[in-house]
Amino acid sequence: MKILIATDMEGISGVTNWDQVDPAHGEYARFRKIMTDDVNAAIQGAFEAGADEVVVTDGHGDGTNILLEELEARARLNAGNSSPFSMVQGVDNGVNGVLYVGYHARAGSQNGILAHTWSSSRIANVWLNDVLVGEYGLNGALAGHFGVPVLMISGDQTACAQAVELLGALETAVVKQATGFASAECLPLKTAHQLIREAASRAVLRSKAGNAPKPYVVAEPVRVTIEFLQPEQADRAVRLPGAKRLDGRRIEFTTADMPAAHKGFRAAVALALP
Ligand SMILES: [Zn+2]
Repeated sequence: MKILIATDMEGISGVTNWDQVDPAHGEYARFRKIMTDDVNAAIQGAFEAGADEVVVTDGHGDGTNILLEELEARARLNAGNSSPFSMVQGVDNGVNGVLYVGYHARAGSQNGILAHTWSSSRIANVWLNDVLVGEYGLNGALAGHFGVPVLMISGDQTACAQAVELLGALETAVVKQATGFASAECLPLKTAHQLIREAASRAVLRSKAGNAPKPYVVAEPVRVTIEFLQPEQADRAVRLPGAKRLDGRRIEFTTADMPAAHKGFRAAVALALP
């Protein structure tokens, strides 16, 4: 059994504001260590439940947040952000299930810590075949294309609820109760790590027993609709080959399959920059 732990930073234990996840800020050093410890808790849980192999993908910013020197020795780390599948790099490589650690709610959510979808400065909403998704959905659909289910998520209560609503009854570790965009009642780290470890363990046990959630499979071809925050961003992003403009803020394009949709979405987000 091979497990991919797909990580992000906004849903990590104790994170409540942007400074804590910004490498340019003094608080970041604390929180990348906490991120590493959240990930280690999930690795331990996965191995306890009988995983044979665990690969971790660092999915926040430039993908160089997790401290390799402190990572559980049994795991391996996909670092950097230019990889083909970005936040779920490695998902096409014989993986049996994905565990999300440190995930956050989609853009526009109420009571979601730093809720956004890929880019907080560019994206208002994203739909796959008219279904509103966040990063949990974009990455979950890519995993689903390869027949891989998402088995677990850690983050705030809103991120966990959104993932369950879209992806099925996966295991959750609610490490903080968001009371706003940048405020939460946070569990102490010991407690949070125990929750993550137990959720990861249950997730792998369920997968081994054959009662894990089904892969999230989006019908292909895939229609991707993106609503930007500013019309100027849509002006730029519509240069993506095959994209058409729907209105002031929205563009749309259709791809043959989910890997192309995932790459096309990331390309459109990049194009939207001046
Ligand atoms: Zn994110």
